[in-house]
Amino acid sequence: MRQLGWLGLLFGLSASLIVPATALNREAFTITKYDLEVRLEPEQQRLGARGKITLRNDSAQPQKVVSLQISSSLNWRSIRVDGKSVQFVSQPYASDIDHTGALSEAIVTLPAEIKPKDSVELEIGYEGVITLDTARLTRVGVPEEIAKHSSWDQISPSFTAVRGTGYVAWYPITTESADFSEGNSLFEVVDRWKAREAKEEMKVDLCTGLVDSTMPFMIMNEPPRKEGNGGGYDNHICRLYRFEPLGTVTPTFAIASYVSTFRAPLSLLSMPGHEAGSNIYSRALDPASKFVSEWFGPPSAPVAIADFADPSSAPFESGTLLMASMAAEDSKLAGINLVHELVHSALPSSRPWVYEGLAHFAEAMYRQQQGGREAALDLLGLHRAAFLDSEKEVSAALQKNVGQKNTGQKSVGENGVGQPLATTFDETYSRSKAAYVWWMLRDMVGDDALKQAIRKYRAEDDKDPGYVERLIESAAKRDLSWFFDDWVYHDRGLPDFRVQSVHPWKTDRGVQIITVTLENLGNAGAEVPFTIMCEGGEITKRIEVRAKGTATTRVELPGTASEIVVNDGSVPESDLTNNVFKISTP
Ligand SMILES: [Zn+2]
Repeated sequence: MRQLGWLGLLFGLSASLIVPATALNREAFTITKYDLEVRLEPEQQRLGARGKITLRNDSAQPQKVVSLQISSSLNWRSIRVDGKSVQFVSQPYASDIDHTGALSEAIVTLPAEIKPKDSVELEIGYEGVITLDTARLTRVGVPEEIAKHSSWDQISPSFTAVRGTGYVAWYPITTESADFSEGNSLFEVVDRWKAREAKEEMKVDLCTGLVDSTMPFMIMNEPPRKEGNGGGYDNHICRLYRFEPLGTVTPTFAIASYVSTFRAPLSLLSMPGHEAGSNIYSRALDPASKFVSEWFGPPSAPVAIADFADPSSAPFESGTLLMASMAAEDSKLAGINLVHELVHSALPSSRPWVYEGLAHFAEAMYRQQQGGREAALDLLGLHRAAFLDSEKEVSAALQKNVGQKNTGQKSVGENGVGQPLATTFDETYSRSKAAYVWWMLRDMVGDDALKQAIRKYRAEDDKDPGYVERLIESAAKRDLSWFFDDWVYHDRGLPDFRVQSVHPWKTDRGVQIITVTLENLGNAGAEVPFTIMCEGGEITKRIEVRAKGTATTRVELPGTASEIVVNDGSVPESDLTNNVFKISTP
């Protein structure tokens, strides 16, 4: 949610290929290892990098030509193989994967063909400037003032923050052109890149010059780990960062005259002048820590929240670093931001739907603790729009392939539509849909069982998608395979509930009873709450309604029923317009 936001909908420019696509498979090579020395000169807004990268040919054909891409504001200086300079042509390559809307592409002719699965090591050097650039937004009509709040990446004398793939190609990448005008093309290219790089490694020796003749504070978002992080972040002028592996992280660095407060496991980095907002974070830390420890265990990995110079900058989170403005003195927001990062500290996982899903789920639980269930569902509701449209496409595709589900062999996700949660790198799924899935699991099995399952979770034991299901089933003593099938292992779209029929009646002893049959028109089953409004109050019950199925139950009432409302918003549904059923009095 944080990374995607509204921008994805606004783009409409087309990219043109300069090198004929037929000649070059730009995604043939995966970069399996980065070993870079990156030198920043904030006063000049300059970045210079040199080092080694290892490329593996992941295509089925031998390759002699490699496309290496960096931001169009950077220039290739040298490319060498085995100590010898190799021939390369540098050219602009239009792609919305970079904030400038283009890449500097080096088309490198290797000394010899690289066979499938073989690797080659390249020594590289490049440099240039990274300035605030809203080109890819303003040229499709986003006003500059708005664009700069989301496209905030820059190296500058007072504030530096630069995100990696999808924002600024400050390290080389190998991608096909990404284009906002083609639906989700940008996110598809970025997700594909992340999936290819998840198991690979990056080492960055990041150095910075002084800022205003003082030593600035530097931070990167290393992936979550239990050990080996050197005990947190520090303010050395050069520091080695290791992403081993990269996982889902978008390598990002920030440099400023931060005021740093460290209370294990959290570094709070605030800009001078934002003391009041930073104090709110400090005060919110104890209650947030207490809540997170109870659910997710004690903190382990270091995490950080870093401020922006421009308070209007859109928040961004990746790995163990959340960038969010501390200028606003908003204690609710501080609380949920802290909860989110502390969950990451307590529960490292390389499975995105577990790592991010649990953190967003925890935000909603924390909101419930402070403001009740409705406030929590409102917070979850902000996530719904993110995946609703893609799930509608999935439902439509399923509609066309009736019968496919019953074969039990293929899922929609495997056919290229939709995203099984268990394996997705798509953030709208791994954050937003996953938050709902954890919330539904909690409603189904209760706090105690879910807590028990979460506390037993170990990233190193999470080797197959069924691991999480087994943990929860053994804590809850309940078969959840149907639920995991519909929500985690496959993408079957969303449920769509309606009241199929009601039958009010009275027992011989005058007790009012209502028989309710709910129908689920969707392809994903769920346990859904429904509330019966009646004389003398309302009664809420829960009922499991499987995909394309119905379920019937009887409820005893204190008085005559007038209305039934299905789903309090805790189950994401494709259609909420058919959820209220008026009961006509005979
Ligand atoms: Zn997160």
